[in-house]
Amino acid sequence: PPAPAASQVGTTCGYCGVGCALIVHTSSGCIDQITPDRAGPVNRGHACVKGRFAYAFATSGDRLTTPLIRRGERLEPVGWDEALRLVAERLKGVVDRHGPDAVAAICSARATNEENYLMQKLMRAVIGTNNVDNCSRICHAPSAAGLTAAFGLAGGTNPAEDIERADCILVAGANPTEAHPVIGARILQQALSGAGLIVIDPRRTTLAKIANVHLAGAPGSNVAIFNGLARVMLEHGWVDADFLARRAAGLDALREQLAWFTPQRVADVSGVAPDALLAAARLYATAMFPSIIYGLGVTEHTHGTDGVRTLANLAILRGAVGTGRGGGVNPLRGQNNVQGASDMGALPDQLPGYQPVADPRAQARCEQVWGCGLPARPGLRIPDMFDAALDGRLRALWVFGENIAQTDPDSSHVRAALDACEFVVCQEIFLTDTALAADVVLPGASFLEKDGTFVNFDRRFQRVRSALAPPGLARTDFHIIASVALALGADLGCPTPADALDECGRVAPLFAGISHSRLDRDGPLHWPCRSPDDPGQARLHLDSFATPDGRAQLAARPWLPPGELPDSRYPFVLITGRRLAHYNAGTMTRRTPNLLLSPHETLDVHPADARTLGFGEGDRVEVRSRRGALTATARLTTDVSVGQVFLAFHFPEVATNVLTSAAVDEATSCPEYKITAVCLRPC
Ligand code: SF4
Repeated sequence: PPAPAASQVGTTCGYCGVGCALIVHTSSGCIDQITPDRAGPVNRGHACVKGRFAYAFATSGDRLTTPLIRRGERLEPVGWDEALRLVAERLKGVVDRHGPDAVAAICSARATNEENYLMQKLMRAVIGTNNVDNCSRICHAPSAAGLTAAFGLAGGTNPAEDIERADCILVAGANPTEAHPVIGARILQQALSGAGLIVIDPRRTTLAKIANVHLAGAPGSNVAIFNGLARVMLEHGWVDADFLARRAAGLDALREQLAWFTPQRVADVSGVAPDALLAAARLYATAMFPSIIYGLGVTEHTHGTDGVRTLANLAILRGAVGTGRGGGVNPLRGQNNVQGASDMGALPDQLPGYQPVADPRAQARCEQVWGCGLPARPGLRIPDMFDAALDGRLRALWVFGENIAQTDPDSSHVRAALDACEFVVCQEIFLTDTALAADVVLPGASFLEKDGTFVNFDRRFQRVRSALAPPGLARTDFHIIASVALALGADLGCPTPADALDECGRVAPLFAGISHSRLDRDGPLHWPCRSPDDPGQARLHLDSFATPDGRAQLAARPWLPPGELPDSRYPFVLITGRRLAHYNAGTMTRRTPNLLLSPHETLDVHPADARTLGFGEGDRVEVRSRRGALTATARLTTDVSVGQVFLAFHFPEVATNVLTSAAVDEATSCPEYKITAVCLRPC
């Protein structure tokens, strides 16, 4: 589409899952500035350094502006007709020779709901496979599984506004002042205004430094700590007996499980002192409106789903969920639209709206609207796609808006899987490491150049509007997916993103009341929103939980050790996470010339460890795991404990994921990014 004439366009930030409303000021097809929208319901005039200033990527000279196809070692520019013809021919060829399940797609948590909806529809209705997944697999899949098991729906229970109602906030495995800064600032403000603050995190984050109680448990000890807190709450009677009797199930089994979790055993596993455990339990459980906010430090573990379940136990015991008084259990989603990509059915076992692919009623509804038969067998999860490529079951992979070669764990394994595929399509805005491994590169559009919706961390649909035209021959991803379908001989039947969301509402009852026209008229809407006059549910489970018996389900789960443990050869634990100024692979934020707060990656290491190993601040250090090695510049800080180090994966020159392991959550295959055994050596 041509650049709109308007010089101010209201849209939603394309970085983290907070979902700040922004105003993009343009002139002559360039961005003059981006300002936070005072009317934005989540951010109310605030934005962080990324949302406000990290936009130079959009007009960067190295944007992809034309399709590319591989000829020998080179990727050469071609026109759209040739690229689309080749994609269709090669995908058809793989399906004809090996069947539809030899093709898979990785959708994009950076793209709009409508694009993800269209992509999963193409894979299911045109290719004929459920091999479609998105990056929630590698971040918050345990949240979807854990919250569904506990409460019946795969979303956080309360809106962002409830942070201001909380008189105690428990932050577990999250560093929101860097990774979700607008929410981090609100938690900080609430704590400084007198709310109790408990932080459960191995690192001394900004919030940990001002918390009333900081439980710096050893990485991998979450389940022990959460169970320890639950036991203390039950022993002291700091529970809501009436709520438990009326609205919860599983208390007897939980009591039995908790017999093992004496404060001393919890201390032995986690290093958390019994009196600190007691103080945290008292602060949370005796508050009027306690709120739980958590992040990837809970989910990205081999027992991440158990972490979510045992954390949810605390809210159930306290009766602090489903009450309308605030509180709840709320995951801070990582990428801007990871909630939405999952909502739209970019999952191998679920159709749009979290309907199982094998559910005959959901299948029939989709078949009727889409006008075709659908596969009922669940498809491959992302880590399984890589294994399937290496053993020959998967022949073609379409990667849309994710730089898996940099961001997925054990990146040597990922690159080997890309090499093993007969055919790789990469839909991207820059020539990333993943694009460089592709046979065809299709130039897509950034969030500043497209129309649609995102769903933020509190289940809120918000509008995304185009402020710029895509550069050169680049197209919106919606246009690209529809064009590939046409090249395959299929019309996906949704001429515009608004049509796609309307169609999604017809197959997914959770979103039936949400449309572009309504969002434009009334502003953001929370799902569930089941009809055009449904105001949407900001707070979930007020009357009953969405579980089969209508009760919140307490989980009796044991503590189990992490997938990888340090030993004498690899004595340190590497924790990974984000830095304030950057975002995921850094593909966008590293192209911002005025974003000099964090120009390169550092290895955060405790001064005592540096002294023991004989290096100092600014020295180069080799970090080696059982899978690979890298070098980084040391930054000495007591923010990490002795025996622990920290790296982000924003910089390809410090390729952190050559180190991380392929250990995954037993329930959801979410990787254990938070624990890698490494050794250090000064270079
Ligand atoms: Fe964007 Fe998140 Fe920053 Fe808000 S807090 S401006 S959504 S990156």
